[in-house]
Amino acid sequence: MGTVESVTIARRTGFCYGVREAIDMAKEARAAGKETHTLGQVVHNEGVVRDLQSLGIRTVDELDDVDHGAAVIIRAHGVRPEVMERAAARGLEVIDGTCTWVIQEQREIVKLVEEGYTIVLLGTPKHPEVVGLLGFAPDAIVVDEEEDWETIPRRKRMALISQSTQPPWKFEKLAAFMVGRSHELKIVNTVCPVTIRRQQDTVEAAREVDLMVVVGGRSSANTKELTRLCGIVGTPAIQIESARDLTDAAAFRGARIVGVTGGTSTPIEDLHAVAKRVLELAGTKAAAARAAALADAAFEVAAHPAGRTTSLPTSVAAG
Ligand code: SF4
Repeated sequence: MGTVESVTIARRTGFCYGVREAIDMAKEARAAGKETHTLGQVVHNEGVVRDLQSLGIRTVDELDDVDHGAAVIIRAHGVRPEVMERAAARGLEVIDGTCTWVIQEQREIVKLVEEGYTIVLLGTPKHPEVVGLLGFAPDAIVVDEEEDWETIPRRKRMALISQSTQPPWKFEKLAAFMVGRSHELKIVNTVCPVTIRRQQDTVEAAREVDLMVVVGGRSSANTKELTRLCGIVGTPAIQIESARDLTDAAAFRGARIVGVTGGTSTPIEDLHAVAKRVLELAGTKAAAARAAALADAAFEVAAHPAGRTTSLPTSVAAG
């Protein structure tokens, strides 16, 4: 018999507004009867992609895979400016789901180019958002982990900007490092507030529990960061992609209260499913018997102040 008595879900979890808007745009376009495609997976979450597919929304890798006149959704990460131009030239209906925060980032980087700064972009190379930003600033130097930073040249006028989902501590540390690399340093802090809040709420939740479960894409740097932060506050954490990954009750041995959090591409419904699964798998007899009700209660608390953290329900979008 397990030891878990209760489960909490971190506040303000679920999709960030950028991801949610892009998904809603795709659903709305489809519901309006348009042939709808998303350029790249709108979110790296199998369940969501399946849900969109079942509505008839296709994911394509190239604009060439979209027929003339069809709608193409640009996902929250944004794209290089040429992609927008090519889509328009091919006669596609472009529905721009670029997150407003990313649009702001793109504007800031354009300004830095115009002002003649040598630009350092803190980001994961090849990440779609970074690829999009480089379309506006092809000469920007992309750096990620600390061991890369020595490659940053010394220049008179330098500027630092960030991919939206980088950890704030890393941005601050790099800013301090770059002070010694330039005469004039302009810092444009484009770390997304949702990322910051998500990390704060995860830390807050981790402090109250015996064990954390972090739900998100295996390769998501953002999700890994949440796991790392739990460790920093001294709470062990396991990282999974979905409730299906929870098969071994031994992982919860001795834990009485378990917390659940997730990355910005993880729907809050997935956190609810994980909470329920934890209780069924590793709950005390009483908790396991009430798994659904306890998970519902945790969900209510988490979903409340954040407002609508999920995308449009499939039935509404289809109807
Ligand atoms: S993490 Fe922030 S910047 Fe990125 S899509 Fe979400 S809301 Fe937009």
